[in-house]
Amino acid sequence: MIQDERLPAAPSAEAGGTVGRWPAGTVLAVLGGVFALIAVSLVALLAVDQRLVTEAATRLHDETVPWTLERQRLARNLEELRMGGQRVLTASDPPTRSDALFVVRILAAHPGMGEDPRTAELAAEVEGFLVKSAATEGAPDMKAWDVYSRRLRLLADDLSVEGGQRVSAELDRMSEAVEQTRYKLLLNVLLVGVFLASFLFILRRYLIQPLQRIHAVLVSLDGREPLPLLSSSSMAEIHAVEEAIMRFHATLRENEEVRLKLERLATTDGLTGLPNRRHFLGLASDEMARARRYGRPITVGIADLDHFKQVNDRFGHGVGDQVLQRFASVVLETLRETDRVGRFGGEEFAFIFPETLPDEALQLAGRLRQRLGESPVALPDGTLLAVTASFGLADATGQRLEESLAQADAALYEAKGGGRDRSVLATRAEAEASPQRV
Ligand code: GH3
Ligand code: MG
Ligand code: MG
Repeated sequence: MIQDERLPAAPSAEAGGTVGRWPAGTVLAVLGGVFALIAVSLVALLAVDQRLVTEAATRLHDETVPWTLERQRLARNLEELRMGGQRVLTASDPPTRSDALFVVRILAAHPGMGEDPRTAELAAEVEGFLVKSAATEGAPDMKAWDVYSRRLRLLADDLSVEGGQRVSAELDRMSEAVEQTRYKLLLNVLLVGVFLASFLFILRRYLIQPLQRIHAVLVSLDGREPLPLLSSSSMAEIHAVEEAIMRFHATLRENEEVRLKLERLATTDGLTGLPNRRHFLGLASDEMARARRYGRPITVGIADLDHFKQVNDRFGHGVGDQVLQRFASVVLETLRETDRVGRFGGEEFAFIFPETLPDEALQLAGRLRQRLGESPVALPDGTLLAVTASFGLADATGQRLEESLAQADAALYEAKGGGRDRSVLATRAEAEASPQRV
């Protein structure tokens, strides 16, 4: 019935200091630095691409488009030249031919014609042919003109196509640069995503999760329970907190052990290990309250060793103490789980029997006295000393504890008066013969 209140074994706190561990601040600073480096490099790459696109657009605006327009204008002038030549060769009278020739000369002398050697050469040839044809009497050489006319058309077409091709090539380069920018941007987003994911993983794995475990441990920290296993963190600061928690828990355990020891000292009789008077009265009050609440029977009793003074006087206090201890062990071996016993004082013991009618308690007391008779104490000279005890019992059902104990005490007095080594139930005495005597 006496509880063993020893604490569970102390946890094996993991040894080791903060050596070889990372300070969280340094880790975060390194990670932040790497992230900044990657971000800056990627932004620089994007800036280069953007510059390429801007340069291409400027080139298109400042060079390619004006150059293309110039080609178009040259092509138009060549066509005008061809139509002017046609008019010179088909003019019906000399003034009309002269006017047409004048236009041809202006077109051939246009500065734009000189910018491209092909147009300059062809314009000069056509002009020469037409001047010669206008000065010559008779029908002009239309076959030769057909050749010039075709060459003029072909060159005009070439010039138009060249302009379009250059614009198209420039636009191709631009779209290629834009495409590359798009891939790099995608790569940027991907890298930032990967970095953020790893950053969050590290943050969760090495900071957040250990902190959550520490929180859970702190919430349930109890000196009576073993310390839940704290995984040893790789972060120096968190590891220091874990170690501090282990030390704190060890202190809590020591305090708890001291508290239990003090509690044992305050509630237990040092000689027999039984609950002392105060503690017994507390236990008995609880049992009385329970019995009253559920309307159950309950019986109390007081036992007193017979002629115990003589034991002390004849064999010494040491033997007296042994007898008291023997009585306590016999009681503990004989009583049921639910019964309670306490050392009431001197060689007096009090009992409370829950769920027990007075007659059943009477039988129990008889069994106790019988066992006591069967367990004599061996004296130093080898002889056996058998002791007896007298019991006073009282029905406590529906009564107050003090009242019931007083009735049991009166019954005990009756048992002593009746010759000892017997049990008496309050208000009616029952004598039982006993083979043992002191
Ligand atoms: P009765 O049969 O009438 O009870 O006689 P008794 O001698 O047992 O009664 P009494 O009350 O006169 O004697 C009780 C003795 O118990 C007196 C005291 O010295 C002894 N005693 C009380 N506590 C202890 C203890 O812790 N150890 C020992 N050895 N003796 C104790
Ligand atoms: Mg006595
Ligand atoms: Mg006594």
